[in-house]
Amino acid sequence: MSLEPFPVDTRQRPLASLRVSITDRCNLRCGYCMPEESYEWLPAKDILSFEEILRLTGLFADTGARRLRLTGGEPLLRKDATKLVAMICAANRFDEVAMTTNALGLATSAEALKAAGLTRLTVSLDSLHQDRVKQISGRDSLARVLAGLDAAADAGFTGTKLDTVAMAGFNDDELSDFLHFGAQRAIEVRFIEYMDVPGASKWTSGKVISRKEMLARIEAEVGVKPEPFGHQGSAPAARFRLPTGATWKSQDLSGQVFGIIASTTEPFCGSCDRSRITADGMWFRCLYAELGTNLLQELRSGVSDDQLRAKIRGTWQARTDNGAEQRLERKIRKAYEPKVPGVHLEMHTRGG
Ligand code: SAM
Ligand code: SF4
Repeated sequence: MSLEPFPVDTRQRPLASLRVSITDRCNLRCGYCMPEESYEWLPAKDILSFEEILRLTGLFADTGARRLRLTGGEPLLRKDATKLVAMICAANRFDEVAMTTNALGLATSAEALKAAGLTRLTVSLDSLHQDRVKQISGRDSLARVLAGLDAAADAGFTGTKLDTVAMAGFNDDELSDFLHFGAQRAIEVRFIEYMDVPGASKWTSGKVISRKEMLARIEAEVGVKPEPFGHQGSAPAARFRLPTGATWKSQDLSGQVFGIIASTTEPFCGSCDRSRITADGMWFRCLYAELGTNLLQELRSGVSDDQLRAKIRGTWQARTDNGAEQRLERKIRKAYEPKVPGVHLEMHTRGG
């Protein structure tokens, strides 16, 4: 194994965090992620096996990755996902092995995921109203998500996060309701600015609620100004805490911590340490990148671990990506139009 120091890219960003999409399939059709009538799926023969995922994640760990997140599509749709989690956790190569899920499968798998060693969960939910959840995700799934969150807590998961895409005219009146929901369940809510990522073909700038607007709205509703909390570092979310006196609908929200992921209006490319691998082994260094590195081909062509480590290292060192910054520089911003259309570009394939 290489004893060289871990690589940094052209902007001195380390390779520290890895997201692996374990399926491109999903049982929801969120309007900001999968708005089309039909999709072309990755060919089954190209989907990485558990052994291949284990090898790749190990090689990224060798090259500096400290945190691993399993995502999708919907990761819990992958057959035997808990077995994969157990294999990865048993290898003990990461400080943290987390999962981002829409929670539909959590009620039946939370206990097994905990037993397998999963460190933490992030659950996506965009409204606390049944009709809105159905409207945005195409399925009447709120009750199942809530059952999933209950199951996660019962299984012993702590530090669960709830990711909510904030959208003007859809859930902008629910920000403080979400903070109350988080306070009741000891969950940290993170509001995500609606991103103009590939695949979000219904995106318009008018649907974005900026971090600034979210903070102003929350302040007006709870009566006190949210204060910055902790250092953002390489984390996507800037965190805030509601000071003493914060109330909403007669509920005390003092001390509640929440995050805002402002990738659209205040990109954090300068500290981005993330790599993304799709379910068929394409490695992308940016959510907006059109070109990736085909690691599946390398894996299946009999390349040695040393050669693969060298490839990962060299590719990372040459990294210049700053997709969100480039989007911000555009004078007219509209839904992303890829120069090269392809199955790998969309958020459900790339894993968010
Ligand atoms: N299916 C899982 C889920 O929904 O949690 C994991 C994959 S999903 C692609 C990961 C995250 O990306 C979700 O939290 C989702 O809300 C977010 N996402 C997808 N499209 C987005 C967009 N256009 N803007 C902001 N966030 C988006
Ligand atoms: Fe929604 Fe996640 Fe499925 Fe996209 S991948 S449609 S965000 S549940």
